[in-house]
Amino acid sequence: MAVPIEDWSNYAEITDYRILGTNEILSFDIVLNTRAIDASPHIENFPELPVAVMAHELGHVLGLRDDPTGTGSVNSLMNAHSVTENKITGPRAFDITSVSMIYG
Ligand SMILES: [Zn+2]
Repeated sequence: MAVPIEDWSNYAEITDYRILGTNEILSFDIVLNTRAIDASPHIENFPELPVAVMAHELGHVLGLRDDPTGTGSVNSLMNAHSVTENKITGPRAFDITSVSMIYG
């Protein structure tokens, strides 16, 4: 059951994700939770946070996971700590390599 949007604590959600076969994405929606983003402790020093959240969610759409190494130390768009610490708004080399491993 979907959580009502006003009860979200996440910055975003991917909805209506449709794929065909293994690597063909038909459609998806990314819904940003601007209430949670505006309330973030990071927004004041990192006003590009909404851009970072959108790019991070696109990473999920392409098949990337959060904190891909489980260490929290990789310079990656998919590592929340790294994103806010390094003000990452787009894919890093680690992310590009990861997507290349999925899609060739
Ligand atoms: Zn994520």
